[in-house]
Amino acid sequence: MIIDTHAHLLSPGVDTFSIIERMKDDGLEKIVNIGTDTGDSEGGVLLAKKVKDVYTTVGIHPEYASKTTKQDIEKINALASEEKVVAIGEIGLDYHFETDNKEKQKEIFIAQIKIAKAHNLPICIHTRDAKEDTYEILKKYSDIIVKPSIMHCFSEDWEYAKKFLDLGFYISFSGNITYKKSDRSFVKDIPLDRILVETDSPYLSPEPLRGTKNEPKNVKLTAQKLADLYEMDYEKFEKITRDNAYNVFKGMKR
Ligand SMILES: [Zn+2]
Repeated sequence: MIIDTHAHLLSPGVDTFSIIERMKDDGLEKIVNIGTDTGDSEGGVLLAKKVKDVYTTVGIHPEYASKTTKQDIEKINALASEEKVVAIGEIGLDYHFETDNKEKQKEIFIAQIKIAKAHNLPICIHTRDAKEDTYEILKKYSDIIVKPSIMHCFSEDWEYAKKFLDLGFYISFSGNITYKKSDRSFVKDIPLDRILVETDSPYLSPEPLRGTKNEPKNVKLTAQKLADLYEMDYEKFEKITRDNAYNVFKGMKR
């Protein structure tokens, strides 16, 4: 059995009910749903309360930083104390589409790092085209960040993998590690007790399903690719990632 540590079960177009109904048959031990705004986070809390093996994070994605209000931050703070909330995320910086709101993005990011501290929860980091600034903030606030925390959908190089590992982060890979273009040369240098697997579904379907709608069960394809890179037996690798998931999401019950 495997754990998908990052899935958007409430994204538009996701057949949430079917995914949950098939979970055990698909070999999924747990799914961690990820919040991206206040409504999505609230939905995640309700879903996790209803479904035994689903846990959730709450947080505001940097993509929504511009329209985020003080009340939204207060809402995330309130949701963080609900049961089955296992992390604050996904939070971070994204300069891919918007670069004229960097200060606002940083402000929202830091406010949520502080919420995580107040609730003793790890953080799940999204960074896109913003690795330097993300690193600077994580380094500056390292003392208050609950460890281990997570670098989600890692797509940087070894230099940055090493930097984030040194700050106490786990490195989480999604389907894009199966893509031909991705740099996989350094993967086996990541200590096995610091690696996680995720789908980021419904996005980023791993090969050979690239281009189709992703779902949690496909996490096994990414895990297989990583097991190959470590030259390790699949079952053994799956168990390692499962243990790591329980280690980072301390509120998740075995
Ligand atoms: Zn995500």
